[in-house]
Amino acid sequence: MDTRSGSQCSVAPEAVLNNGDLVLPPRISRVNGWSLPLHYFQVVTWAVFLGLSSATFGIFIPLLPHVWKYIAYVVTGGIFFFHLVVHLIASCIDPADFNVRLMKNYSQPMPIFDRSKHAHVIQNQFCHLCKVTVNKKTKHCISCNKCVSGFDHHCKWINNCVGSRNYWFFFSTVASATAGMLCLITILLYILVQYFVDPGVLRTDPNYEDVKNTNTWLLFLPLFPVQVQTLIVVIIGMVVLLLDLLGLVQLGQLLIFHIYLQGDGALGSSAQGAKVKSFLLIYKSPCHFCTSVNPDGDSSAKEADVVRSLSSLGVNARDSLQIYRRPSPFSSTVHPEGGSTAQEADDEPSLSSL
Ligand SMILES: [Zn+2]
Ligand SMILES: [Zn+2]
Repeated sequence: MDTRSGSQCSVAPEAVLNNGDLVLPPRISRVNGWSLPLHYFQVVTWAVFLGLSSATFGIFIPLLPHVWKYIAYVVTGGIFFFHLVVHLIASCIDPADFNVRLMKNYSQPMPIFDRSKHAHVIQNQFCHLCKVTVNKKTKHCISCNKCVSGFDHHCKWINNCVGSRNYWFFFSTVASATAGMLCLITILLYILVQYFVDPGVLRTDPNYEDVKNTNTWLLFLPLFPVQVQTLIVVIIGMVVLLLDLLGLVQLGQLLIFHIYLQGDGALGSSAQGAKVKSFLLIYKSPCHFCTSVNPDGDSSAKEADVVRSLSSLGVNARDSLQIYRRPSPFSSTVHPEGGSTAQEADDEPSLSSL
């Protein structure tokens, strides 16, 4: 039955809880990471990227001695540029299932899932919301409200789903960001050591010939030299180092996790393999890069808050929480022979796959 018809399109789709956060599917399916509304994680990501790029190329690399300066420009510049390109591609790609891209009209409001008519959003490889036949590894993402081919997770930082179409661009984004941060930390540590050992090494740029006071430093060399005191440079350096270390820890975790996932098949179904997989899922949980939820998790305190939020929005809180507690009807693809596959049982429990 066509659930697009009538009044069903006039109210918001049902709400769900994700780590205690209320998630409402958008009425209009999102196309890619630039579909509105932008996520504040995405804004933070680009702000940090621009900030670190400015500090790296405008402040720190110009302090390096001649030869190292040009090596740093080429290596770090190459990594930052590569990151910019793959980051943009990962955000711009529409990861939707082929039939969704072929047949779906993105400007039309999405129907609301009617549980009285269907047990799951995707049944027999047909999505009752997208109204198309999808492949076996497709899942319907609640954040994008569309079917995503080879669904991995919905990433708040690129504000886009990560699926088979953009997975390697996403992976390259994480890998290049990690490499870029390692370069920056190396440069910062070198500058820090040289400042105490021989600060004159950091003042080899020709513009320093006119600066006699050793307590004065130049930013944004060689084009727009701005004179500042040592304290300003030290404060900027400490802030950037702290940001860099925090980012490196987060990105490093995510990168290791995805590298391990590539070897997931090698883990097999042995007890040891199951333990490693279980560890990896726990390991991933604190990472805000990935939208994930533990259906059995303790969220009682958060639930109370969200019940109030749901009620204020006119949503039936009890029903929504029951939806949260039971296996997601969206994420389980029911095959003709009935039941979910073993692979699906292994899948990360994620309301992104709602
Ligand atoms: Zn769908
Ligand atoms: Zn998504």
